[in-house]
Amino acid sequence: MRILVAGAGPAGLYFSYLAKRSHPGWQIRVVEQNPPDSTFGFGVVFSDRALEFLRGDDPATYDLITPAMESWTDLTVVHRGTPVVIDGIGFAAIGRLRFLQLMQQQLSSVGIEPDYNRSLSSEEELKDNDLVVAADGANSFVRRTRDFGTTVTPLSNKFAWFGTTRRFATLTQTFVENQHGTFNAHHYRHSSAMSTFVFECDAATWQRAGFAGMDEAAALTFCQKVFADTLEGHPLVSNKSIWRNFPNVRNRRWHAANVVLIGDALRTAHFSIGSGTRLAMEDAIALEKALREHASDVPAALAAFEAARRPIVDKLVAAADASAAWYERFPEHMRLAPRELAWSYIQRSGRIDPARLRKISPKFVDG
Ligand SMILES: Cc1cc2nc3c(=O)[nH]c(=O)nc-3n(C[C@H](O)[C@H](O)[C@H](O)COP(=O)(O)OP(=O)(O)OC[C@H]3O[C@@H](n4cnc5c(N)ncnc54)[C@H](O)[C@@H]3O)c2cc1C
Repeated sequence: MRILVAGAGPAGLYFSYLAKRSHPGWQIRVVEQNPPDSTFGFGVVFSDRALEFLRGDDPATYDLITPAMESWTDLTVVHRGTPVVIDGIGFAAIGRLRFLQLMQQQLSSVGIEPDYNRSLSSEEELKDNDLVVAADGANSFVRRTRDFGTTVTPLSNKFAWFGTTRRFATLTQTFVENQHGTFNAHHYRHSSAMSTFVFECDAATWQRAGFAGMDEAAALTFCQKVFADTLEGHPLVSNKSIWRNFPNVRNRRWHAANVVLIGDALRTAHFSIGSGTRLAMEDAIALEKALREHASDVPAALAAFEAARRPIVDKLVAAADASAAWYERFPEHMRLAPRELAWSYIQRSGRIDPARLRKISPKFVDG
């Protein structure tokens, strides 16, 4: 079997590792446009059960990554300067680069070194493979070479993905209002020295604040001032922290002939539910399993992959969409008192109803 994997992000690295581990005889080539030590953003979180989905089938990767993670058991919502702690909502986080390095190490252990600094840019390069795995992210080039029934819908809020040297005690959602409008930050520590700080605001606030006319450095200084109380004197740190609108990627078809989409190329899930990386890895697991169970019958394997995975993905995407819709209206939610805002926030994705919340967050519900 000859496989071309486009992209060495979480989806591409993990799929290639699993496939080569099961089939040492397969020829797997991974092509990545960037160098191995380059990445955008800072840390990523994994919600509640963190990497538990790996523990059974892949204890080696679980044991490698878990010690490098920061974890905590509560979540904090800060509104009008008042922190509200929601107990029992645990997360684990890791620096995105650290995570990719550990996945690269796994891939190297099965004898694959990705072809770095090489961008796939012509259909010609996809030829002569039994299978092409498009793991090249939300803006996938490979996806554009076939008709997958793709839609890419940008959300209206603007966000920029920063880091900071302040280490926060828990994953925190901070809401701030000033003369320009309303702002939100998603922030949590992801290493012994750094936290992730995703700055978000609605389009009207973004315009009023004058971000359109600011360069990256001026925008960073502005964002730092908005969240001065939260940062307590620590700086924001940039890493390609440009303004973006989150793209909701959806595909009617998951595969076309011998090309299959996985990870963000297949669908994005709004970052507020902290699941994109896990979804990408679970796609990799499901695709490798389908290939194993259908030997070298690629069409049967791709059909089985979609049949097994689509219902699970659809459920998570619905939760991600509900969460994203809540953020698109966060200025309205900010009219609520701090505890009411926290109550609205925690139920935003439809996955936690009051009965379940009472079980997992008794202190918060009693409060
Ligand atoms: C602000 C923000 C915060 C996030 N926070 C979280 C979080 O807390 N938790 C979480 O789980 N997820 C989070 N995510 C989502 C997460 O980053 C993605 O879901 C995840 O990275 C998807 O992995 P992937 O491998 O599919 O794609 P990517 O990570 O995008 O990797 C794709 C790779 O393909 C390469 N590539 C692209 N085009 C080509 C080409 N033509 N040729 C060769 N290589 C190419 C890219 O360079 C890249 O390395 C967040 C996303 C954003 C935007």
